[in-house]
Amino acid sequence: MRYIISLLIALVLSGKVYCWGFYAHEKINGYAIYLLPPEMLVLYKPSTAYLKTHATDPDKRRYILKAEGPRHFIDLDKYGRYPFSELPRNWQAAINKFGEDSLIQHGILPWRIQQVLAMLTGAFRDKNKASILKLSADLGHYIGDAHVPLHTSSNHNGQKTNQHGIHGFWESRVPELLADQEWDFFLEKARYISQPAETTWKFILESALAVDSVLLMEAELSKSFAADEKFAFEWRKQALIRQYSSSFSKEYNRLLRGMVERRMRQSVQAVADFWYTAWVNAGQPKLKGMAGEMWTDSSQNELDSLSFYWRSQPVKGKSCD
Ligand SMILES: [Zn+2]
Repeated sequence: MRYIISLLIALVLSGKVYCWGFYAHEKINGYAIYLLPPEMLVLYKPSTAYLKTHATDPDKRRYILKAEGPRHFIDLDKYGRYPFSELPRNWQAAINKFGEDSLIQHGILPWRIQQVLAMLTGAFRDKNKASILKLSADLGHYIGDAHVPLHTSSNHNGQKTNQHGIHGFWESRVPELLADQEWDFFLEKARYISQPAETTWKFILESALAVDSVLLMEAELSKSFAADEKFAFEWRKQALIRQYSSSFSKEYNRLLRGMVERRMRQSVQAVADFWYTAWVNAGQPKLKGMAGEMWTDSSQNELDSLSFYWRSQPVKGKSCD
């Protein structure tokens, strides 16, 4: 029995937790589709499986591409205190002030969103179906990451406050436990965003403002839970693993007053808004007739190789473990 338990613990410790978790990223891209206008739905709806499956490609890419790591976070606390006005919001101005190497070291998530938005707009202009879908999936991922408070802090996994594991707890464990059962994702139709950079900084700063509560509530709650109540062996996807117990997770969610649900809902809305904005800025090209066969040999090959590297390689750069 002791052998089995140590084996299970070893398996859990070697397991990796990803940004928003695979579960939530897939949900976010999937729900965003339903907020799109019919002119876009004709392409996006038949591509639901693609957009969900590929929602986590950017995380997998970190295993093969060094440049990918810094695109998922920004350590805003490296730039003073909220609202971090030391840091220019404009990429070129930020480079002039801090240098590109330093910016990359502390994460470039807000600028990456602008870059992919521009690429998606270009793909719509070119009516390039494969690129539209790939970049939509990617953009959904980065926007999702930007809504996770710990993606804006250098204490990204509670390593500085002895709260190791809190990253995956907030963004994977809590949504997996509650999203399907208790949360709703009825949202507004996709809206046109006239100033995407400002909007991006707005949700990045909202995330930064929430970091203290994310950490504090976990620390407070831990005082009233014994270790064997805080963690428990529970079933997760047909495997028995040691994780934050259901009771601890639910109580944490209650203390946060719906923060995880709210950030996930806002992610869904923002993903739809940004997809829609790219399409409008490209001149609302007709997408009808583009759906066709979604899975080409090359998209299958790309997915296969990403999945291979994801399983077999250590992450390049900072991970969300
Ligand atoms: Zn990520």
